[in-house]
Amino acid sequence: MPNLSAYLKDPLLRRMWNDIREAGPLRSISVDLTHLCNLRCAGCYYFEEGMDAYKSPAGEMVFDGFIEREKARGTNFVTIVGGEPSLEIPRIKKIYDHFRASVATNGIRKIPYEGLENLPIGISVWGDCDTDQALRGGKDIFEKGLNNYRDDPRAFWYYTVAPGHAHEVERVVARCLENGNPVLFNYYSDLAHLGGALDYRNGFGPVRQAIDRMIERYPGRIFMTPYFNRVISTGQLFDERWGYDVCTNLSTDCPKMPGAWKAVNHSTRISGLTMPILCIPAAVVPAFSAIALLASIPGSIFPGL
Ligand code: SF4
Repeated sequence: MPNLSAYLKDPLLRRMWNDIREAGPLRSISVDLTHLCNLRCAGCYYFEEGMDAYKSPAGEMVFDGFIEREKARGTNFVTIVGGEPSLEIPRIKKIYDHFRASVATNGIRKIPYEGLENLPIGISVWGDCDTDQALRGGKDIFEKGLNNYRDDPRAFWYYTVAPGHAHEVERVVARCLENGNPVLFNYYSDLAHLGGALDYRNGFGPVRQAIDRMIERYPGRIFMTPYFNRVISTGQLFDERWGYDVCTNLSTDCPKMPGAWKAVNHSTRISGLTMPILCIPAAVVPAFSAIALLASIPGSIFPGL
């Protein structure tokens, strides 16, 4: 098996490694801030897997107590997800005031700049307007996100591509970059079993090639390397296969979903606040956290974030 120095020959991994070591020990959690969302996207792991059965606490004392307990535990980084976190701006602010943090949002409601100036924001996009209409319930979702985060130095796009949607990658990435925002990629898991162009069993070869072209065309604007792209989308690391036994986050063979390309979320839930502890679907949530962490470090490898 290759040792660490072999992995660190990848320039991006090397720079990420250096930045993270400079940042010091990381004690990270991921919090489902709310069980509510203003969309119902087909294949959303949060709703498909019934995670909204756990309600966020109504009372601020419960939420404040959660923050104090996490501080006492030594938590120093929080990835805020949901549901849709922008429906709970005051609680985003509370987390931001106590921890390094990042947030994932659908972009429909703008997260204010004032008071949250250094919050990395990953905006989800699944494709062009037709894909928004087909999978997310409205043609203008991408447009709203573009308008809300034009030239916002906190924002990057978190682009989830389905197997049969490689042809959209070029124009969607161009729109994101023209808007002044870099791009990180994710791979669509067909949790709603819609099949056809969305079926993970079609493989991600064309998507991987399209992403590689974007990395080559836009140096420094795509938060991914061809190597990382290949490892995540193939389950192949150097000459070895990896899966649930190696990394419970980047799982392709979770025992709870045998045969599935994705894995399920297994989480601890405390008063409606969810902290994923095992595998998370669609492979790139760890990448999102890592990129967001790096973006939150002053002077990190991602200028402008
Ligand atoms: S916006 Fe996000 S949380 Fe809401 S339904 Fe879509 S994928 Fe799920």
